[in-house]
Amino acid sequence: MTTSLADPLSRARQLPKVLLHEHLDGGLRVATLLELLHQRGITPAADTVAGLAAWFDANAHAGSLLKYLEGFGLTVEAMSSPAAMERVAFEAAEDALAEGAVLAEFRIAPLLFESHGVAGEAAVEALLAGLARSPLPLGEKSGLIVCAMRHLPPEETERAARLALKYQGRGVVGFDLAGAELGHPPSQHARALRLVRDAGLAITLHAAEADGAERVLEAADHGATRIGHGVHLVDALRDPARRWMVDAVRERGLHLEVCPTSNVHTGAAKSLETHPISELWQAGVSLSYHTDNRLMSCIDQSEEAAALLQHTTLNEVDLLAMATEAARHTFLGTAQRDAALQTIAEFSAPLVPPPPVVRL
Ligand SMILES: [Zn+2]
Repeated sequence: MTTSLADPLSRARQLPKVLLHEHLDGGLRVATLLELLHQRGITPAADTVAGLAAWFDANAHAGSLLKYLEGFGLTVEAMSSPAAMERVAFEAAEDALAEGAVLAEFRIAPLLFESHGVAGEAAVEALLAGLARSPLPLGEKSGLIVCAMRHLPPEETERAARLALKYQGRGVVGFDLAGAELGHPPSQHARALRLVRDAGLAITLHAAEADGAERVLEAADHGATRIGHGVHLVDALRDPARRWMVDAVRERGLHLEVCPTSNVHTGAAKSLETHPISELWQAGVSLSYHTDNRLMSCIDQSEEAAALLQHTTLNEVDLLAMATEAARHTFLGTAQRDAALQTIAEFSAPLVPPPPVVRL
């Protein structure tokens, strides 16, 4: 059977992808989570793979951010040993490759595991070891972004920043602020962000997901070159008085890591049909599509691509161009970027018509 537009998922699976935004504690395989919980003597609400998958699916569609976030309590508990972290990182890379990733950057807040008895260094080393032995080798095709939780005191963010810098050049490729955005702007963590920026480690910040469009440029002012989500930038696009913000985002070369399905589940967007990804893309904003949390949102990157093909005006050429944009903004390095760009270009060549010949 040949694939066609009538079969968006199998076509989506074939597209080369660049994964920039996926939380490792939000992306465990259900079977792995169940096994790790059993190893720790924990019996979850549902005790079969199908039952636990259904529990996550119900939470994703409950229309409640609290319900959506409930799953992280389970995953962090389950991952709280170096062996479990190593396995989760390895499997995340294996899954990303299976979905067509040519580059993958995974993120996590390593200090979350301290209260479960795993020191930050041990957590980072286990995660890096998992990626190193994965089919997306560390430094070549995968890297780790260290997150700090923005609702915690700035001193904690500084500790996370120092931890990230300790592994800069050894697999940690970036720094991020995750967690509750409203009420916790990056300015609260300016010292930590300055540390990271001065050391030359790349920064991506969750911004304009739960808060307003102005957070995108604020994140950039604190050193971010990529923005997690940024979906509320569309409010500035629709408002002539604030459209200059979108111009500034383009001029400053910022890239939005958009996670459409997660946005619907957390209430940042009402539906895929009305999701601003198409509108921002048409306006010339550099962006790409990602999973955010494969487990909580019950979606992988191919399914995310297929959902965009089915529910938005975006087509395969758009998705390939987004992968190109994502590769251009990888934190992994120029050689890794160029190799990914070449793979995507080779795949795209038969699909993208050559520019018309202009006769003078
Ligand atoms: Zn995220």
